[in-house]
Amino acid sequence: MTFLIKSPLIFKLSVQNSSHLSLFNYTIVGAGASGLWLADSMLNKGLLKENTLCIIENDTNKVNDRTWCYWAKSPIGYQDIISKEWNLIKNLYRKNNPEIFPYKYYHVKSHDFYEHIKNRLKENPNVFWKNDSVIDVNQIAEKKIIIRSGQESWVSNYVFLSSLPTSSKTAEQQKLTHYLGKQVEEESLFLWQSFVGYRIKTSKPFFNPLEMIMMDFNTPQSKFTQFFYELPFSENEALVEFTRFGTQILDYDYAIKQIEDRLKAKNIAYEILEIEKGAIPMSPKFDHLKNYLPESQNIIYIGALAGALKPTTGYGFKRMYHYAEKLAQALKQKGNSPLPTMKRKWRFRLYDILLLQILNDTPYLGKSIFEALFKNQPITRILKFLDEDTTIFEEILIFSRLSIVPFLKSLFRYCFIK
Ligand SMILES: Cc1cc2nc3c(=O)[nH]c(=O)nc-3n(C[C@H](O)[C@H](O)[C@H](O)COP(=O)(O)OP(=O)(O)OC[C@H]3O[C@@H](n4cnc5c(N)ncnc54)[C@H](O)[C@@H]3O)c2cc1C
Repeated sequence: MTFLIKSPLIFKLSVQNSSHLSLFNYTIVGAGASGLWLADSMLNKGLLKENTLCIIENDTNKVNDRTWCYWAKSPIGYQDIISKEWNLIKNLYRKNNPEIFPYKYYHVKSHDFYEHIKNRLKENPNVFWKNDSVIDVNQIAEKKIIIRSGQESWVSNYVFLSSLPTSSKTAEQQKLTHYLGKQVEEESLFLWQSFVGYRIKTSKPFFNPLEMIMMDFNTPQSKFTQFFYELPFSENEALVEFTRFGTQILDYDYAIKQIEDRLKAKNIAYEILEIEKGAIPMSPKFDHLKNYLPESQNIIYIGALAGALKPTTGYGFKRMYHYAEKLAQALKQKGNSPLPTMKRKWRFRLYDILLLQILNDTPYLGKSIFEALFKNQPITRILKFLDEDTTIFEEILIFSRLSIVPFLKSLFRYCFIK
């Protein structure tokens, strides 16, 4: 068998021998949020009755590496994995009912998510697990892709990538850029949402476990955009998280100091149960520009790489679930129908870019923008807006109450300055 490929020698050798390689109909690279949501959707839609799935993950210690929060009208996926839910979000800037009906704010521990989905998949004999790192993924013909990991190679009809193969960073990034429908990588606009949180236990009841705090800017800004989240799990236990939107990742010691100052100011005696920290990319560079994939595209990017994270919030868990459902459904129905991407409506992409530019160029304006938002809008409308579900009329209501000058300047920059 011969195929035309432009790959390194080692890869040509494996291609020539590809008839001896094992075949899986689907391969998912990365057993994180998007990979497992997709595998689960494939299982639920019956795709794994007659097709085989290989899931490859390189992290041997992937146990409880993060928690996911999201708001929704009902839990996505499984109620069993919800560790806490809140009906109330305290709005510090507007005295009104904190009820967020029809939404609830949900909290999922990654350990519970990984375990739950993996246990479901384990019951299916068509699912195969590999613990290894993917080095190369190359499409050599329609529905024929060779995957090379540290230990072996195999063939798949479709590959879903939630992480880039490790062989060549530049080449893999170029493939992704091309996949997203772009000529060149959108480099310029890239911020981090970085955070450090203390999960604490207090000696006396202190928190209202029904009500979480979303963006509390009552902390020195030091010319940044930074705020607190407070997620109370009981009267005595809460996650108090310091977060910054900015070009630099938050300094750990600085963040700890802000958390401790806050707890001291509130006169809370506590012990630390856990420390959580992380950084989420905030960038439009992962946004897909096309609605559907070309018929011949059998390497499909998923998760953060393919635009699942909303650039101005970093939320993406819910979006990955919905995309997995759509993708699995499309794969099931696949005749001539093209596969969907995660393309967002252009106007929401524009809003995100305008705000990110403001946060990038003038981060000290972040506090006043977000405070105006929370002061003038019901939280449910803000949540709907962040879900990109609002109508243009609702968006006019939102923008009409914000200071317009920074947004006009940002629009000018977007239109005329590269
Ligand atoms: C600390 C943290 C907290 C977050 N909290 C929230 C939240 O509350 N709500 C929300 O909506 N979003 C949140 N996010 C954002 C987003 O939902 C998560 O980052 C999510 O896990 C991204 O899913 P993913 O599938 O794209 O990537 P991941 O979940 O990171 O999965 C990618 C997987 O690929 C594996 N891998 C990497 N390279 C290779 C390779 N070469 N071969 C094989 N496997 C490989 C990795 O080990 C990993 O398991 C958070 C992100 C972080 C970092």
